[in-house]
Amino acid sequence: MEKIETGPDKDSDNNYPYEALSTDKIVKDMLESIKSIGAIIEIPATTTRILLQHFKWDREKLLDKFYSEDRSQLFKDTQVVDPARQSSLPETVGELAAADIEEDCAICFMPLARNMMTGLECGHRFCEDCWNEYLTTKILEEGECQKIRCPAHKCDILVDDETVMRLIKKSDVKVKYEYLITNSFVQFNRLLKWCPSPGCTNAIKVQYSDFKLVKCSCGYTFCYKCTSKWHEPINCELLKKWMIKFEEDSATSAWIGLNTKDCPNCATPIEKNGGCNLIHCSKCAFNFCWMCLNKTTDHHCQCNRFKNKDDENREGSKKEKKSALRKYFHYSDRFMNHANSLKFESNLYDSVKEKMFEMQRITNLTWAEVLFLRNAVDTLCRCRTILMYTYAFAYYIVKNNQFNIFEDNQEDLEQATESLSQFLEQDLKNEDLSEIKQKVMNKSNYCENRRKVLVDHVYEGYEKDWWSYWSMH
Ligand SMILES: [Zn+2]
Ligand SMILES: [Zn+2]
Ligand SMILES: [Zn+2]
Ligand SMILES: [Zn+2]
Ligand SMILES: [Zn+2]
Ligand SMILES: [Zn+2]
Repeated sequence: MEKIETGPDKDSDNNYPYEALSTDKIVKDMLESIKSIGAIIEIPATTTRILLQHFKWDREKLLDKFYSEDRSQLFKDTQVVDPARQSSLPETVGELAAADIEEDCAICFMPLARNMMTGLECGHRFCEDCWNEYLTTKILEEGECQKIRCPAHKCDILVDDETVMRLIKKSDVKVKYEYLITNSFVQFNRLLKWCPSPGCTNAIKVQYSDFKLVKCSCGYTFCYKCTSKWHEPINCELLKKWMIKFEEDSATSAWIGLNTKDCPNCATPIEKNGGCNLIHCSKCAFNFCWMCLNKTTDHHCQCNRFKNKDDENREGSKKEKKSALRKYFHYSDRFMNHANSLKFESNLYDSVKEKMFEMQRITNLTWAEVLFLRNAVDTLCRCRTILMYTYAFAYYIVKNNQFNIFEDNQEDLEQATESLSQFLEQDLKNEDLSEIKQKVMNKSNYCENRRKVLVDHVYEGYEKDWWSYWSMH
C-alpha cells in the first residue's frame, strides 16, 4: 500500500506538542534524567533511578524531599540505604584484598582467590558464577529490576545497574533487564506512554497528560490520557462508563447486528451491504432510514434525538425502568449501527482505489490528483467514528439548551455523513468523471465543517460546564 499521509494529522492540535520515541531514545531519555539529577544530589545512578521512580520521574518532587527534613523518611520509604550513611557500614573487607589469599564464596563455598570474587560496598563477596545465577533468576523468573539486593542474608545493599550488566553473562538476560528498566521508566512516567499498537515498541512523550489525539510514528492514533482509540468528542471518563455499561448489557441487548430488515413499505427483505443508512427499496422505490425505518427524503432523518413518550409517569417504577431501557437502546443501537457501518466503510477503500486507477487511466491525472477520493473515505470514517461516540456522550447528558444545539449539530453531521456515504458507495459508479471531483470535495468539505462545529461545541461545553450528567451508571 502506498504510504500516504492521511487524515488524523489534520486533527492534531498544534497546542499539544508530543514526540514518538524509539526504544533507544527511551533509554537515552532515562539516562539523561538520571544524570541531570545525579549531578545535583551526588548519589549513585541506581539510587537516583530508584528515587526518581518513587516520585514517578518528577524531579522537582524528588529535590524537594531530598533537601527537606524528611530526607531519612525518603530513604526509609524507598527502602534504599542513604549513601551518606554507607560509610558507617562494618568493614569486613579491610585491606586484605590480595590475589594470593583464598576465600570461600558465601553461596557455593568454593574456595577462590579473592580477586576472582565480586562484592559490593557491604563487603559480602561471591564468585561470578553464583552472581550470574542469582541475577539471572531475579531477572528472568521474578521479573525484578528495580531493587536487586546483595544476595547475603538480610543485606540491604543494592546491586547497581552497571554491576548487573557486567555480571550477567547471557545477552538475552541483559536485554530483558534493559527492557524491564525502560518499561518501568515509561509506566511510571506520567509524560510517557507506550504506543498501544500491537508489536510497536515506541513510546509517546508529551509535556502534560491530557485527553488529546497523538499519532505514533508507526501510524497508530490514540488518546494520550486513556490510550483508547481516539474517541472524540466523548471524554475519557464518560467513555469508560459507557464501555462498561455497554459490555455488561450487550449480552442481553436486543441488538444482534442485523444486516437484513424488511422494507417498511412492501415487506421485501433488504440486505444492508454498505455503511450508508439511507436505504432505497429497489422493489417499491421507498426510501427509508435503516435505524428507525421511517420514510426519508433527501438524506434527512431526525431520529438522532431520543423522545421520551412517558414524560407524564414519574411514579411508576416499572414504567420508569422501561423508559430507561428504551432510552439506553435508543443510544446503544445508534452507537452500534455506526460501528457496524464503519466495518463496511473499510471495504470502500478498495472500491475507491479502483476508481482512482480508472480515473488515472482515462483522464491522465496523477496519483496525487486523484487522492481526493481516498481522503473523502478518510473523512467519512472519521465522521462516522465521531457520530458513534456522540451517541455514547448524549446518553449521559441532561437536556438543556446547549444539549439541543448539540443534537442539531449531531443531526447535521449525520445527514452530511450519510450523504457522503451514499455518494461514495452508490453514485460514484454512474457519475461523470469530470464532475466527481467537485461533488466529492463539496460533500467531504461540508462533512469536515459539520464535524468541526460539533466537536468544538462539545469541547466548549466541557470548558464552560454546560454539560451535566445523569448520575446513572
Ligand atoms: Zn559461588
Ligand atoms: Zn551484602
Ligand atoms: Zn506505535
Ligand atoms: Zn481517552
Ligand atoms: Zn419496498
Ligand atoms: Zn431515522
